[in-house]
Order: sequence, then structure tokens, then C-alpha cells
Amino acid sequence: MVGRCHGRELLQRAATLLVQQLQAAQYGGSARAAAAASASRGPHPHAHPHPQQPWQQQQQQQRHARAFSSTPVWSSSSCPSGPPAFAFDIDGVLIRGKHVLPEALEAVRKLTHPDGHWRYPVVFMTNGGGVCEARKAQQLSEWLGVRVEADQVILSHTPMRDLVPELAQRPVLVSGRGDVLNVARSYGLQRVLHTRQLGRAMPAATPFSTYPPEEQDAATGGSASSTAAAPPPSAAAPSLAAVGPHPSSAGASSTGIPGSELGSRSGSGSESGSGRFCPVRDLGLATEAAPIDTVLVMTDPDDWYRDAQLICDVLTGAGVATRSAGAAAASGAPPVKLVFSNPDLLWANEFPKNRFGQGAFAHMTLSLFARLTGGARPHHVTFYGKPNPQPYRLAERLLLAQARRLGLTPPQVAPESGSESGSRSGSGSAVLPFSGIFAVGDNPAADVRGANQAGPPWVSVLVRTGVFQGPGPNCDVDTARVAVDDVAAAVEAAMHHSRRLRWHSMR
Ligand SMILES: [Mg+2]
Repeated sequence: MVGRCHGRELLQRAATLLVQQLQAAQYGGSARAAAAASASRGPHPHAHPHPQQPWQQQQQQQRHARAFSSTPVWSSSSCPSGPPAFAFDIDGVLIRGKHVLPEALEAVRKLTHPDGHWRYPVVFMTNGGGVCEARKAQQLSEWLGVRVEADQVILSHTPMRDLVPELAQRPVLVSGRGDVLNVARSYGLQRVLHTRQLGRAMPAATPFSTYPPEEQDAATGGSASSTAAAPPPSAAAPSLAAVGPHPSSAGASSTGIPGSELGSRSGSGSESGSGRFCPVRDLGLATEAAPIDTVLVMTDPDDWYRDAQLICDVLTGAGVATRSAGAAAASGAPPVKLVFSNPDLLWANEFPKNRFGQGAFAHMTLSLFARLTGGARPHHVTFYGKPNPQPYRLAERLLLAQARRLGLTPPQVAPESGSESGSRSGSGSAVLPFSGIFAVGDNPAADVRGANQAGPPWVSVLVRTGVFQGPGPNCDVDTARVAVDDVAAAVEAAMHHSRRLRWHSMR
């Protein structure tokens, strides 16, 4: 009896979904028709409890009711009878600037038990960063009112952990605002310095940047966590003679860098006399004794001028900021590898128009490098972050681990998804036990493109509470499998999808 009632309920839901899909196909022929049909459905059901921000008013004017994509929404998935899993973007999906979107709280309610435990595997996958995963998990817990663990958080730089076996002992220059220096150290990089430290060590290199004293602790390893992760003794104190002369060093200090604290190591009265740790002076990082091996841009820099200048200096000097390109070539030093943690040109906050992101910084830096070198591109440039594959492979590992903890993994499912490094290797990829991994995002170029490229069971879901504002219900360039208004509607659509697949698998 119970089974029969359940079957009838499923049949009714399937009929409802069929009507929805027919409507979607009808709208699909014309974005304008879809918009008109959407507009006729009245206001959005989720009222904003607080006075609307300017961007919210703008959205309200452009609001389309929930509209399914014209593309085939539900196609193949790896495990039709499996549970759904979710990968939520954060900015523009759960929050907008400093405001938590009310739809985010509604989505969380749909995905959690009354006791606050997650019903399904969930990760938060953002191209943001600058903090450790545990700190971001704490923030999300406060914003969403539900416990979020560190292993549910994938920041743009989180997949860089896979580089640690190679880079742990090599000199690495990190760029980015926030606490990226300590994040890099927490990942296991032991010979690392921040662009702020490099700039401070040779102020003439970036004369328009400022280095206020209060930056010392955050930037120079003065904090407790930095001290705990201090470089090993074996890396310490090469000769300052290794620091090459500045090309225009008239009147310079003994190191060739006017105002440089590098030259005052044995002197007194300068900044170095304060005893402050300087990885350039004290460890020789970014000098000929220990040239930079890799530059990691871990999040948007706080000083684009400083970081573009110094990164170009390091790249053209083969790891030594003060070395000329000619001297670098003559030295035979290997080229420096450059890694950006995300390629986002734009992102959204409270401001009514989108803001430049790290992708814009990358464009600027690579363009400047090309101008400096007659059109060349650095030998090794890699972009992490969505839409690139690294975060998706990591998300699959984390979601699978959660599914096991939640008891949602069928016993016949392969023990691991992909290799230890998280890569699903071509045709040999393991089956993931999900009816779909719903990647909910606001940025078509990052969130939608990445999920589409990741392949089944990933399902791209585009919301319009952030970067994407139309026109039309879906993006013409990077077209989402599902296009809805907000994250609550995204969860609703995902649940419908999973129920429908389960019903079909039972026939
Ligand atoms: Mg976003």
C-alpha cells in the first residue's frame, strides 16, 4: 500500500515535470518569449526582509521568474538512483558583498535535517580566497546558520595543495591580499615570501607603494602561526653578495638598491636594525642564491601596481627581481613558473556594476610582460580555479567522502573517484554515485563553463543574483543546463531532477 501510494506520488511529480519541460521547450525558441512568459508569472516569491540594496532593486526590475533552460536539462548521469550533490559558489549565489541572500537560507533549510545535519553532500566552491579553508568554513557557518566543515570548502587556492610535494622546499613568491602567506605555509610551502615582503625589502622597486608598519606582523612572519611555519635552518642566510646590482644603481647602496634594507644587514639604524625578519635579506629568497621557482597568485592582490611590477621583475630576472633579462639569459637559470588561482575577469559585490577580478590582474600582468619582452609570454602560465578542472576533481573527492559519511554510497560504487591527486583520468574515470552534482553559480564564464566541461554527473545551474543579469533567462555563450532566479530555486530544481531520475530507474 505504501509502495503504491509512493508510486502514485512519483507519477504525479513526473507529470508536473513533463509540463514544466514542455513549457521550457516552448520558451526555448525565443529568449524574449521566455522573458515575457516569465514576467507574466508575477513577482518573485521570496521577499527580501530588509530594505533593498541598489543592486537588488536593479535585479527586481530585471527579474525573470524561474525559467528552465532551453537546452536539454536532464541528460545522462552516472547513477540515476543516487542522491544529489551540490557545489555552491559563494559570491553572487549565497552572499552579495556583505549581505547574505535570503534565498541562501531557504536553500540550506531544504538541504538540512531539523537537527542541522546535511541531508546530501555539499561543498562550497569559490574562486575567492585569501583565508584558510577552516576560517571560510567558520564564516559560512555564521552566515548560513548551519555547521560547515573545512573539508566542505574549496577556495581558489585549495587545489594548489597538490603542488606542495613539488614546491615544499623551493623558493616561492606568493601574491594576494589577506592571509595568503600563512595559507601557503599551512599547505606546507617552507621557503615562501610575499610580494609585500619583497617590495618592502627594496622600496625603490615600487616607489608608489606604501609599507605601513602595521603590516609587519601579517607580512613578515611575526605572527604565531608564521613563526610555527618558519623556514628550515638549512635555508637560511646566503651571502648578500648574491643580490645583483640594480641596472640604474647610481648612488645606490652596497646592494645596488637605493633605500634597500638588503644593504643594511650588517649596518644599524635602518629597518633591519629593528630585528624584523626579512626573507629576502635573511634567507636570500628571490636572490641568485635562491631564485624564485614559482609565483603563486593566490587571490586578487591588494596592490596591483606593486605586484605586477614585482612579478614582472621576477619573471624577467629568472627568479631574481634585480637581475636584468640579459643577465638572466646568460645565467642559464630556468624560467619561473607562474600560477594564477583563478581567471575571473569580473565578480559581483554591492556595487551595481561588476568589479575586476584576478583575471583582470592576470591580463594586466601578462600584457605588461609581453610589452617588456617584445610580445613573449612567460614559459609556464597555469590558471587554477573555475572553470579549470582542478577544483571539480577535488570537489568530486570531497563529495564522495561526504556521501560515505552520510551513508549514501551504494556498496557497489568504486572505492575512490579518480586518482589520489583527484584527476578523473580520461575514459577510465570512476563512476560517481550521484544523480547529479549541481554546480550552482552566478558567473557563466566560470561556474557554468566549468561544470559543463567537467561532464556528467555535473549539472550547471545558473542563478541571476550575481554576475549574470541577462538579457534572457540563460547565457547565450556559456549556456547552463538549468537557469533559475536564485539558489533556492536551484535546489528545488535539483531535487525535482533527482526524483525524476529515481522514478525512471524504478520503471
Ligand atoms: Mg560568484
